Amino acid sequence: MTDRYQDLAHNPIGKFVVKNLGLPNPPYLERYEGGPLVKGTVLTGAATQTPVAKAVTAALKAARIGATGVPSGTKKYKGLVFDASSIDSSEGLVSLQEFFTPVLRQLEACGRVVVLGALPDEAVSEAAALAQRALEGFTRSLAKEVGNGSSVNLVYVAKGAESSIGSTLEFLLSPKSAYVSGQVIRIGLTDLKDADKAGDPAKPLAGKVALVTGASRGLGAAEIRALHRDGATVVGLDIPPLEADLKALTDELGGGAISLDITAADAPEEIAAYFKNNHGGVDIIVHNAGITRDKRLRNMKPENFALVVDISVGAPQRITDELLDQGLIREGGRIVGISSIAGIAGNNGQTNYGTAKAGVIGWIQSLSKRVAKDGITANAIAPGFIETEMVKTIPLGIREAGRRMNSMSQGGLPIDVAEAIAWYANPGSSAVSGNVVRVCGQSLLGA
Ligand code: NAP
Repeated sequence: MTDRYQDLAHNPIGKFVVKNLGLPNPPYLERYEGGPLVKGTVLTGAATQTPVAKAVTAALKAARIGATGVPSGTKKYKGLVFDASSIDSSEGLVSLQEFFTPVLRQLEACGRVVVLGALPDEAVSEAAALAQRALEGFTRSLAKEVGNGSSVNLVYVAKGAESSIGSTLEFLLSPKSAYVSGQVIRIGLTDLKDADKAGDPAKPLAGKVALVTGASRGLGAAEIRALHRDGATVVGLDIPPLEADLKALTDELGGGAISLDITAADAPEEIAAYFKNNHGGVDIIVHNAGITRDKRLRNMKPENFALVVDISVGAPQRITDELLDQGLIREGGRIVGISSIAGIAGNNGQTNYGTAKAGVIGWIQSLSKRVAKDGITANAIAPGFIETEMVKTIPLGIREAGRRMNSMSQGGLPIDVAEAIAWYANPGSSAVSGNVVRVCGQSLLGA
């Protein structure tokens, strides 16, 4: 879907009107098109030297991202990374301002800011817990200020998980995270086995088998393409009426197709049998299928409440349990649930959808603890307003509000959700589990 307002705001007359009336000014966002992950230099800083700061240096070097720890008054930076994990008092928080204020004007368009902290739950004193929790307010506020298509995110690193920050830094510093801002990511929450050995950076998912449900269009189609781009053998699933569309896509990607309704009683056994017979198991499962049946609760038909909940979370839970029970999700496995900002903030006319999507979060967070012992992660994505068929059904006024009421003043693209899933799926993301990351351009809903 093209954003006509965005194009208008970039022509000479539109620019004048937007500026003088103080209207939203959606920048064109950079997206990853191959080549180096970061086109520019990253400036790093730290309150004091810590294992996290050392891990940042090592991770940037491993990813061949140009970095410096010495600020210059004139140079432009594509990224700013600050290790705040050692801050253990309210007084110490001033080091955030001391690092960022002199260099913020040097951040390029679509720049990236990453703040690293220590898990507040692991803090050894009240003062340290205060300081680490304060980082959330800092990053979320700065994310609303930076503008120009730039993003600001916070990564809490558990003690001992420092060497696992690489894949997350790569994602957050690159254009792959174009529509992810104001987010808090936690690394090392669960006691997972060591990260898989990183393979070919261009094909990190080589040798993996991935299932995406609801794959024939919208987010699912972008997700399956991104997993294929990263080297996975892909299997798409969709309802029988969409079989031709699904097969056209999976044939193009050299993958497999499963035509069924995930709510059918025998769907879990059929899916398990497919992977057992064709691939001996499965590595990545993206529970993407979802529907909306919006009505205020007083007018809601019982079947539409139950169906929305069952497609978004009931069926994914049954399918995952069957695959786990049969031992078909291999070590290093990845389970991804698709929630929504409606599951975080709630939405008028969406009691069914909000229930379903909040349920996804509860399920994934609980599941992440259960599967950790098998070296499997479980994470959720909560998309905001993403330009797909689903949002075309929203009335125009509400649709336009949804599109503009975020820090990027625009809707996201399916690829933005797909890139976040590819980051979860990356072998380097073994210590990323139990997270719920919003891909919403820092939507005001659920903020
Ligand atoms: P979409 O374009 O409607 O695609 C969803 C796909 O899932 C469709 O092909 C759909 O088929 C399929 N599906 C529905 N019920 C199914 C079932 N019982 N069994 C198998 N497949 C089924 O939706 P989308 O916008 O790409 O959304 C993808 C996911 O992201 C959903 O979970 C959605 O709730 C979530 N999400 C989207 C947005 C957004 O802004 N687009 C925001 C937040 C969350 P039919 O619909 O034809 O039955």
